[in-house]
Amino acid sequence: MNELPNCPQCGSVYTYEDGAMLVCPECAHEWSLDAAGASSEDEKVVKDANGNVLTDGDTVTVIKDLKVKGSSSVLKIGTKVKNIRLVDGDHDIDCKIEGFGAMKLKSEFVRKA
Ligand SMILES: [Zn+2]
Repeated sequence: MNELPNCPQCGSVYTYEDGAMLVCPECAHEWSLDAAGASSEDEKVVKDANGNVLTDGDTVTVIKDLKVKGSSSVLKIGTKVKNIRLVDGDHDIDCKIEGFGAMKLKSEFVRKA
């Protein structure tokens, strides 16, 4: 099922696809399917403190001292975190840190190494 959207110009329902474009035979309006807001899967982009896009497997550096939940230890600024995994949620980085074990971090407190 791939219902084409109506012509945004004249509302015609007789639109057809021409490659990546949609064409209206009634008013000759052409537009691209992407611009028409075809609801593509909303891919979440996780960015570090500098706005760099993070991906699974990246190594990041902690940019501020972070209290570790449920313990008195502090994750020191400059700590390298290898092989991160991006997850959904408030804390969007899943990782394992030597001496701490598995934990979650916020992407805003790290920098891509
Ligand atoms: Zn039209």
